[in-house]
Amino acid sequence: MKFSALPIVSPSQSSGLAPSFEQAVAVHHPLPLRARSISTLQVNVGKVCNQTCHHCHVDAGPQRTESMSKVTMDQVLNVLDRTPQIMTVDITGGAPEMNPHFEYLVEQCRTRGRKVIDRCNLTVFYMKGKSHLPRFLAEHRVEIIASLPCYEAANVDQQRGKGVFDRSMTALQNLNRLGYGKEETGLILHLVYNPLGPVLPPPQAELEQDFKEELGQRYGIQFNRLYTITNMPINRFRDDLTGAGQLEHYYTLLLNYFNPSAVDGLMCRSLLSVGWDGRLYDCDFNQMLDMPVQPDTHAWIGQFDLTQLEHRRIVVGPHCFGCTAGAGSSCGGTLA
Ligand code: SF4
Ligand code: SF4
Repeated sequence: MKFSALPIVSPSQSSGLAPSFEQAVAVHHPLPLRARSISTLQVNVGKVCNQTCHHCHVDAGPQRTESMSKVTMDQVLNVLDRTPQIMTVDITGGAPEMNPHFEYLVEQCRTRGRKVIDRCNLTVFYMKGKSHLPRFLAEHRVEIIASLPCYEAANVDQQRGKGVFDRSMTALQNLNRLGYGKEETGLILHLVYNPLGPVLPPPQAELEQDFKEELGQRYGIQFNRLYTITNMPINRFRDDLTGAGQLEHYYTLLLNYFNPSAVDGLMCRSLLSVGWDGRLYDCDFNQMLDMPVQPDTHAWIGQFDLTQLEHRRIVVGPHCFGCTAGAGSSCGGTLA
């Protein structure tokens, strides 16, 4: 990689007792932190995945069994029918395509005129019974956001598993052949970068240029945008940090790089996250930490009430510093 990530600052360089996330925000922003709207429903359709990446905040893998039922999907669709302001359905997992009703959800959301995003790991296309997916996604004009933490094979395989890089390159080439990643087709293909270790991502625009040059020259691959995302210190990545004795160090880094200008665009302020069982959260990270929305009387998709949820108070914790460090981080890349 040409770009070095931001360095870790020693805990000894931080001053005094660490503030809570709310205390840090309060200096620049009126409390409590509230949602402004719900324009995106991020639907986590399950924890089943064909990979077991080191940094995974979902703890997803082939052994997981949690998967959204068709009944719960119908509740999601019912909310869309009553809530025209929700224009985007962002489908995530696990590998969302491993849910047996994935195609049903996509078709029904598109029939309702919603933009649909598939957060795709690319290798799922090679699973048994999944080879139709690239064409299916193109036919339904689904936006693909694909994970690719590096353009070097060794780095990708280290984080995501042996052989993942080669299969990812072939998958991206196939998507390009279908028209994905080319301005003139309108078929959107974004890539997602996350650091390999306990550091912040490098500047997004420069890294995107770097990826475009390297993937274009070496593999003839085109894509639209690169999103850089900060690793959240939860689940598998937190376990890795703890094992390496770096957890406190990483929190100190996130705190030291707190950027108040990222607060305005925090994704929880315009997004509502739905768990595989229909429970509602402010974001996918809170979902993995089992921190449902408040008021919890409306914390299920079957009890969705726009009036109660649209300007809800956001439930925050120390992990939220991952969204405000450096240039800020969200499912749509940097914020500041
Ligand atoms: S990071 Fe994505 S591809 Fe990797 S195990 Fe988690 S859900 Fe699967
Ligand atoms: S972790 Fe979730 S709740 Fe916390 S700031 Fe980020 S998006 Fe908002």
